[in-house]
Amino acid sequence: MEWETVIGLEVHVQLSTATKIFSGSSTAFGAAPNSQASLVDLAMPGTLPVLNRAAVEKAVLFGLAINAEIGKRSVFERKNYFYPDLPKGYQTTQLEAPIVGRGDVEIQLEDGTRKTVRIHHAHLEEDAGKSLHEAFHDEQGRGMTGIDLNRAGTPLIEVVTEPDMRSPEEAVAFARKLHAIATTLGICDGDMSQGSMRFDVNVSVRPKGEEKLGTRTETKNLNSFRFMDAAIRQEIRRQIELIEDGGSVVQETRLFDGDTQTARSMRTKEDANDYRYFPCPDLLPVEVTDADIDRLRAQLPELPDARAERFMQQYALSGYDAGLLAADRHIADYFEAAAAAAGDAKLTANWVMGDVSARLNAENLDIRQAPLSATGLGQLIQRIKDGTISSKIAKQVFDACWQGEGSPDEVIDARGLKQVSDSGELEKVVDQIIADNADQVAAYQAAEGAKQKKMFGFFVGQAMKLTQGKANPQQINALLQEKLQ
Ligand code: ADP
Ligand code: MG
Repeated sequence: MEWETVIGLEVHVQLSTATKIFSGSSTAFGAAPNSQASLVDLAMPGTLPVLNRAAVEKAVLFGLAINAEIGKRSVFERKNYFYPDLPKGYQTTQLEAPIVGRGDVEIQLEDGTRKTVRIHHAHLEEDAGKSLHEAFHDEQGRGMTGIDLNRAGTPLIEVVTEPDMRSPEEAVAFARKLHAIATTLGICDGDMSQGSMRFDVNVSVRPKGEEKLGTRTETKNLNSFRFMDAAIRQEIRRQIELIEDGGSVVQETRLFDGDTQTARSMRTKEDANDYRYFPCPDLLPVEVTDADIDRLRAQLPELPDARAERFMQQYALSGYDAGLLAADRHIADYFEAAAAAAGDAKLTANWVMGDVSARLNAENLDIRQAPLSATGLGQLIQRIKDGTISSKIAKQVFDACWQGEGSPDEVIDARGLKQVSDSGELEKVVDQIIADNADQVAAYQAAEGAKQKKMFGFFVGQAMKLTQGKANPQQINALLQEKLQ
């Protein structure tokens, strides 16, 4: 039997506001536990929430970026449940009248195919606190769970897709695109390791050709693209095996552990009725006027798809390279500044996607923390192009700049790395190699064809060794050709 996978995502996007959605408490990450939770965040009797305008504006910006209908009058509701990280007993969220209605996000797969994923809606809500388990356990693994309420009341939008994705690749492409849109808009810092964007994946399978959707499970709170991919693959396999063994899928909520790469059932799925939703009596409906929308539309930056398109036109980059560079606003900015300084976009793109990205990944740095500035990288590329250094030496200069030894020009000077292009000097080098390696020269002259070509490499290697890699390769080649005849 052939199976088809169906995936729909619910994504929590933390909005990068300075204060919480209904109070003036700071949203900064990493403060001492419970130092940033106010009476309002805990809904203590006698307090009233006041809606943060910045959170509403960021949600509307998101809606405009995905061509969605904007809810002109959205309503906050209470979703009632009790959990230790939500001591107020309800989450303030939206249900019937969300701030963002139907919209579209276009994704592109590695093979170039494009596809539209429909957004069902996106609503504003507050985050809950965090349970801290390990920190409070004794050696026997017994103990208490700590609750940190700093995150309680942090503004989120929850973005809900239609079940439009058909493979893990499509789901990850969508997740990456959403990340690119949110960070380009500047509505979210995009730091997944701090939980700024969390994905719940709904997965079901059905026999190929069947129209009716299969029973789905929801795996919650995936905070990396890699975990998301792994969790979906596992879940597809589990469901197919279950059905093929004569069982059936139970609609449930599951948890995936990234460390052990295993998932387990957490609870069977609740119904909306279980939450006893009702409009929050403490908050007025949110009205967004046409004038608000016009003003916010005028603030929209160039979005990832448009920027990638421009990179292809303006810099003659491939669609793949352009998409990769445009997916991160700050990488794209760095690339453009470096390309302008270097005067060579293609070479700059290769450096940014190659050495620069590799170092950022290895050291877990954001491009804004890169020790080599965009203009610094531009200068390095210029020095390759004007023949001051070879591409090989450039890697050494790059490393030195990254270690903080100065600008590329300073490193080239201080380390004496200028390429030797003085033909007199290079001729001396070649003469010496020939004199020192009489046997190899004789063997070379006796050989022919591919064998001789291979032996030629030995002499080039000697020249580079003698000059510490600084010999101009074209000139060395020409001189050796001439003198070995
Ligand atoms: P609920 O109201 O129970 O939360 P929704 O209809 O809002 O369910 O769907 C929640 C998410 O699950 C959406 O992203 C939707 O696309 C996805 N989804 C719904 N049904 C399926 C299914 N059979 N297979 C995969 N995903 C699904
Ligand atoms: Mg739902």
